[in-house]
Amino acid sequence: MPCQTFHNVINNQLTSTVTTRHGINPANSQPNPDVPVSTPEDVNQAVQAARDAFGKWSKTSFTERRACLTAYADAIEANAEAFKQTLTVEQGKPLSQAATEVAMASQWIRGLSTIEIPQNVIAETEDRKVIQRYMPLGVVAAIVPWNFPVLLAIGKIAQAVYTGNAVIVKPSPFTPYCGLKLAELATPFFPPGLVQCLSGDDSLGPMLTEHPGIDKISFTGSTPTGKRVMASCSKTLKRVTLELGGNDPAIICDDVDIDAIGILSYLCSSQVCMMIKRLYVHESIYNTFLDRLVAFVKTLKVGDGTEADIFIGPVQNAMQFEKAKELLSTISSQKLKPALGGSVADSTAGGYFIHPTIIDNPPEDSTVVQEEPFAPILPVMKWSEEADVIQRANALQTGLGSSVWSKDFERATRIADQMQSGSVWVNSHFDVAPDVPFGGHKQSGMGVEWGLAGLLGYCNSQTQWLKKCL
Ligand code: NAD
Repeated sequence: MPCQTFHNVINNQLTSTVTTRHGINPANSQPNPDVPVSTPEDVNQAVQAARDAFGKWSKTSFTERRACLTAYADAIEANAEAFKQTLTVEQGKPLSQAATEVAMASQWIRGLSTIEIPQNVIAETEDRKVIQRYMPLGVVAAIVPWNFPVLLAIGKIAQAVYTGNAVIVKPSPFTPYCGLKLAELATPFFPPGLVQCLSGDDSLGPMLTEHPGIDKISFTGSTPTGKRVMASCSKTLKRVTLELGGNDPAIICDDVDIDAIGILSYLCSSQVCMMIKRLYVHESIYNTFLDRLVAFVKTLKVGDGTEADIFIGPVQNAMQFEKAKELLSTISSQKLKPALGGSVADSTAGGYFIHPTIIDNPPEDSTVVQEEPFAPILPVMKWSEEADVIQRANALQTGLGSSVWSKDFERATRIADQMQSGSVWVNSHFDVAPDVPFGGHKQSGMGVEWGLAGLLGYCNSQTQWLKKCL
């Protein structure tokens, strides 16, 4: 798959626009190739093509859809190397982490397209039958953020297509490249108009959420944007799934002696929605735990993700870099104590690098605890009473994930049962799978993606009352 030129994919044609723009390689601030800036006319064309494709596709069987999706997954696997390289250059994550994301994409297609969608017979007597069945919605717009541009686009494509819908993908303007190539690669496997991709500037998302020809928005991104998306969708009562930001707590009990937990805070330069962002450590082990965590995180190499052994790449874009610098400035303005890092890293290449930072026991009301950092800056806090740490862990308006760590499984699950978040892990903090629903409580989202529940979010429920004789 050649990755030098990038086009919109409309009705299985590669199209260009008069105006173009480009992303930036965050490791060196160099421009990546030009991509289209879609206009309202491009959106109208794509929506019309999607509506045309939907008519026939909605009547195909799950077996036919699964066969097309499986062939598509094979093609992604065959082009994994090109996707991996493109992903690192556009997103910044190290090649090894890019490889994992690309591998997950085909795994998600296969996993999602083997889930059975039930048809429920609610009542059946001699003369009457009542059925609940699920029907596709129509045209889905998939709005994708810049942190996992491959996996999150593919999750939405696979769910939409498998349930009988057409899909238009809108990647983030910061990371449009893999999304455009995913749609280009889809063209031999799906009818024209079924899987399309439009790249654009900040005006494109609202064009999609406002469009009367689109039936559902599947949105992954920040909480403030999610609120705007929902407000816009209310005008046409579009279906909406919102996967939003999180500020996940992890509660470490006094019998825990793991230092590699740092991995779960610094993957993808800490720009993952569900990862440990507030670490609560029992006071009786706090000092030893912190020392070991600092020693471990010091071993994680920072640099350009295309180089060997790098674990922490740059943060993804200039805006995020500025936000991270602002957060680092709270170390002095809010009198915080860094146990590690605390500054931006020198970069001769002009990349957006930050030293992994650990803040030693900041107050609960400090910005670094209250706000999702989305940069490698981790607050570690002490706790002593179980009820108190549960209250602090649940105190925020976010509720995406949380975890509890202990050798005492009963104790860990007792605490886990009280967590207010869409996912709760015991002795882990990252497990996801295509057949397991994922979503947020409170302001971390609405609805779920993946699993049967995720697939049903791409369907209308229909109840049929069938009287057998007249
Ligand atoms: P963002 O909200 O800025 O942008 C997300 C997408 O929405 C982009 O494609 C953007 O172009 C588009 N967009 C922006 N304004 C829009 C509007 N008014 N209407 C429609 N679309 C619009 O988010 P981001 O900075 O790209 O991503 C980071 C955020 O995403 C973090 O908060 C992170 O926690 C969250 N996230 C959540 C999940 C999850 O599954 N819950 C997964 C990944 C990321």
